[in-house]
Amino acid sequence: MIVILFGPPGVGKGTQAQKLKDDKNLCHLSTGDMLRAAVAAGTELGKQAKSLMDAGDLVPDELVISIIKERIIEPDCAGGFILDGFPRTVAQAEGLDKMLKAVDKQLDFVFALEVDEEEIIDRRAGRMVGAKSGRVYHAVHNPPKVAGKCDETGEDLIQRDDDKAEVMRHRLKVYQEQTAPVAAWYEARGKLTRVDGMGSVEEVYGRLSAAMTN
Ligand code: AMP
Repeated sequence: MIVILFGPPGVGKGTQAQKLKDDKNLCHLSTGDMLRAAVAAGTELGKQAKSLMDAGDLVPDELVISIIKERIIEPDCAGGFILDGFPRTVAQAEGLDKMLKAVDKQLDFVFALEVDEEEIIDRRAGRMVGAKSGRVYHAVHNPPKVAGKCDETGEDLIQRDDDKAEVMRHRLKVYQEQTAPVAAWYEARGKLTRVDGMGSVEEVYGRLSAAMTN
């Protein structure tokens, strides 16, 4: 099964991807997590990506397309994968289309999660992540078992720099300009399913599950 979780920053893609991964035993491919790992490891890719990410801008298409292309052919992705945060431009969607055709695979679902902007800002304010695990939590909506600690690794949870209000506003603008057209691209191909992203993590996951069985 190949699933794209699409939507603006803060809509809950990472949280829903985690649930979907655990539930369906799929590989969770977050380009944001991969880029942050490259930044932390100080690789050439990380050096190119860092300042763009800090500013809330997109990393060049060729870079993200090549990391996804290498990743989806690895053995752990053979049973299927969830793309979280990719594609973010029409050029990336076209790149994905080509790479899937080359390995004779097809997209099963493109879910566009939708929430209003007020809700996004509120969710981001309480958002915390485990830097090593990539797990996402929220102080109110999705708290860890022990306050401030990751359930999986026990590491201290942090707030990402690009979740701070200024950068967040810029990221929403970048989304409107460069990423929103991707939804129209999939819609024109009859691939897009819109899913209401308001409500609790469980409610949204229930809607996603229902959309997969319909
Ligand atoms: P995310 O964790 O998905 O919110 O991504 C964090 C940051 O990584 C974004 O603001 C971009 O700078 C970069 N990034 C992640 N995915 C992509 C992508 N598909 N294309 C370009 N830049 C990306």
